[in-house]
Amino acid sequence: MERGIYLDNNSTTPLDPRVFDAMLPYFMTKFGNPSNTVHDYGVEAALAIERARAQVALLIGADEKDILFTSGATESNNLAILGAARANRRRGNHIITTLIEHKAVLNPCKQLEREGFTVTYLPVDKTGCIHPDAICGAINERTVLVSVMAANNEIGTLQPVREIGRICAERDILFHSDAVQILGKHSIDVEELGVDLLSVSGHKMYGPKGVGALHVRSRRPAVQLEPIVYGGGQERGLRSGTVAVPLVVGLGVAAEVAGKLLETEPARLRELRDRLLGQITSELPSAMVHGHATQGLPGLLNIGFPGIDGDALIHCLRGIAVSQGSSCSAGSFEPSHVLRALGVSDDLARASIRLGVGRFNTADEIDHASRLIAEAVTMLTG
Ligand SMILES: *Cc1c(COP(=O)(O)O)cnc(C)c1O
Repeated sequence: MERGIYLDNNSTTPLDPRVFDAMLPYFMTKFGNPSNTVHDYGVEAALAIERARAQVALLIGADEKDILFTSGATESNNLAILGAARANRRRGNHIITTLIEHKAVLNPCKQLEREGFTVTYLPVDKTGCIHPDAICGAINERTVLVSVMAANNEIGTLQPVREIGRICAERDILFHSDAVQILGKHSIDVEELGVDLLSVSGHKMYGPKGVGALHVRSRRPAVQLEPIVYGGGQERGLRSGTVAVPLVVGLGVAAEVAGKLLETEPARLRELRDRLLGQITSELPSAMVHGHATQGLPGLLNIGFPGIDGDALIHCLRGIAVSQGSSCSAGSFEPSHVLRALGVSDDLARASIRLGVGRFNTADEIDHASRLIAEAVTMLTG
């Protein structure tokens, strides 16, 4: 099967070979249960988890005690939002988030509305940015939690996380940030940013699927969380269930490698993304870029082609693996809620693609991909 050039690295990333090598022994010989440390099998597994905890903590400037392992960022977001809201119910029932969050944030918020919470979904400007003043304006005396992503997965826009963190800290409001997309692209420090709860995913940073982490601040302030899974009390009682040792080992090494590459990789990704953009727009000057011109993720390019039929475009782009500006849910193509929030028309959203350059893409692939895109759009223009 010829699957084409992989340019969908914001959907998922291939495993880094260093991650794979580190995981292998934990599938086979080092199979102990980390919760049972009366023998050396368990001790070996428990030590591996603690090493991974330190590796993830280092990537985000956290205290290793404050890292919990989960099944992925969907669970991390659910635990952060449902857990913090329910545990702080006595203090208030109002939550603030944005219209362009991932569904793994929006849908737990919808669930909280069914439980009697009020949620404010803040709009964004045309670049996808939320203004810190909008957060101040939405806060009331019942606000207990603010959840704003660090970088958007569809358009790459970076949010003013530090300012939002300061606003929340001054008012004793918990601040959660979905940082899935930004890790390995920018240095992140939960202390500097004033983030209390921060979500991490393995498979968006060259680690395995099915594993993630949640940073839960235990000091200044100690975040109260109600678990969403009950059982043996693993992970400080906040996430029961035997920890997925091989996956967690992989997440740890993925975090370590991402941290080491921070000095070189973002600049390389930005260069390849700009090369792609330059080549596409020189052939197709009417193309429109969605997102922020400077405050964006390196490597991500969301671009639309006015007047082009989106379904035909995706059909013609078989030689490259990209995402469309709409997602297929239950068989029908819904224009992206993110592009809608930017004010992009449904037709243009359908005729938009998200290109995600990643660690293993080469300049040759970029050149080839931009040729394929230019050819497809030119052909469809007729
Ligand atoms: C992929 C993604 C998630 C979900 O992560 P999983 O580990 O796949 O559950 C959440 N938020 C953002 C921004 C994402 O890109």
